[in-house]
Amino acid sequence: MTSGTSTRVIVDWAPELKGRLRTGLPLTVLAQATLQPPLGRLLIMGRSDDGGVSLAASLMPGGRAGVLALSAVGIIKPAGAGIPPAALRPRFPAREHRKGIFILDAEGDDLFLVGSGLLNQVVVSCGPWPLLIPLVGPRAPKLQPEDEETLASNLDTFCAVVAASIDGVYRHLRQEGPELKVTLRPEGPTVNDALEGVRRLGRSAAGAASTGLSGLRREPPGQVHRPHDEAIPEVSFADVGGQDEARSELEAICAALRDPTHYRRWAVRPPRGVLLYGPPGTGKTLLARCLAGEAGARFIHVRATDITSKWYGEAESRLQQAFDWARQQSPAVIFFDEIDAIARNREDSHEATHRLVSTLLENMDGLREMQGVLVLAATNRPEAVDSALTRPGRFDRLVEVPLPPRAGRKAIFAVHLRRAEQTARRRLFVPLGDRDWERLLSATEGFSGAEIAETVRRALETRARAGDLEGEIAADDLVEHARTVARPW
Ligand code: ATP
Repeated sequence: MTSGTSTRVIVDWAPELKGRLRTGLPLTVLAQATLQPPLGRLLIMGRSDDGGVSLAASLMPGGRAGVLALSAVGIIKPAGAGIPPAALRPRFPAREHRKGIFILDAEGDDLFLVGSGLLNQVVVSCGPWPLLIPLVGPRAPKLQPEDEETLASNLDTFCAVVAASIDGVYRHLRQEGPELKVTLRPEGPTVNDALEGVRRLGRSAAGAASTGLSGLRREPPGQVHRPHDEAIPEVSFADVGGQDEARSELEAICAALRDPTHYRRWAVRPPRGVLLYGPPGTGKTLLARCLAGEAGARFIHVRATDITSKWYGEAESRLQQAFDWARQQSPAVIFFDEIDAIARNREDSHEATHRLVSTLLENMDGLREMQGVLVLAATNRPEAVDSALTRPGRFDRLVEVPLPPRAGRKAIFAVHLRRAEQTARRRLFVPLGDRDWERLLSATEGFSGAEIAETVRRALETRARAGDLEGEIAADDLVEHARTVARPW
């Protein structure tokens, strides 16, 4: 199974990986390693389903070495003399693309993409990887291995490309590469486990979760399971508890996105931009994903941290790319999280914000000509959003997503209790009577949907940790866990 060898870097795969990929593997970390500077870390993930096999290796640079890592594998050519030799081109049949390099198979078809990921990572991938690949860029096809032999040879090539990419960075610097042997195995944490860990970390940091972590935290799990097009979230409005007004507003907009005929018949343009506002954790992202999921639209999630950059002009260019990508992918929902951080009120902001807001406005005005793209944005601070954005034709629908009242909390509990039981395929909770609901809803006064979901999760986790295989969770347990989630003030 040994495949990618360079002078010092070996990447190979364990025999059991092949079997797991053939029978179906949820998104799993296949290998991780710490690298010496200027690189920082290697993370390899894989998954497979009816649609094929996807693999992604991400080489994360330490510090500001991103450009260096990219140039060493021939993705970008730094300004100035001495374009470095690309590490990959001499070794593999390849086709160059503006945004990366495609490694080709024996028939000359695209097999793996070597491109740049978020934060200047080098990403070797096949299949769609919203976590790692920038919002815009070529898409790598999934592997469709017809037989074991083809899969094995694809895995070999993948390993070889990863090894050559790592090797290339150190060679380019004329540095001793690391002594590294990495074996891809299917036993690593699934990505949902990992995100759950990050989520818990974020919470225990007394609400001061770093922006990077909060970005990760919200990666929609629906993207992981969808067999054919991961970017269409697998959630529907039935997954939203309460929030009736917001929900019905978005359902109407969803209908328009799916079928604009009625709007055309009445010579009125369908809504173009919706601003969701309300406290953290109330379900704004969830609602946006549901809209995309039900409309069969791609969900393009743009966080402020994806966009902002200290380099002049870079932020606008990323924003522009996100819109270009949405246009190509129509029908699409483009969702700006924390829009206030992107489009702050220009009166008290820098020139950079002005340029960003202008780009946003130009694109939203430009949407007139394009069908099937809806722009959603969310904020906890609507007053901080530039007022130019809320003019007609832009974010012209403002939808409040408040903390849920009593009935809303009950509906959210019901969603999460039901979902857990469906996933476990058995009864997990003693049915709650009126008095139980009374106590539970009183104990969760002021809770957001996210805190209710966390209450249910903790109750389940406690039983799992205790090693219980049977039994049901009583209302008392839920009340008790709600108290642990409750904020101290
Ligand atoms: P933020 O403002 O911090 O970005 P948000 O309003 O976008 O938060 P979400 O990320 O959508 O909140 O919510 C986090 C999680 O909380 C959801 O994935 C879901 O599990 C749960 N949740 C929140 N609101 C609801 C709801 N109304 N119904 C069901 N689940 C909910």
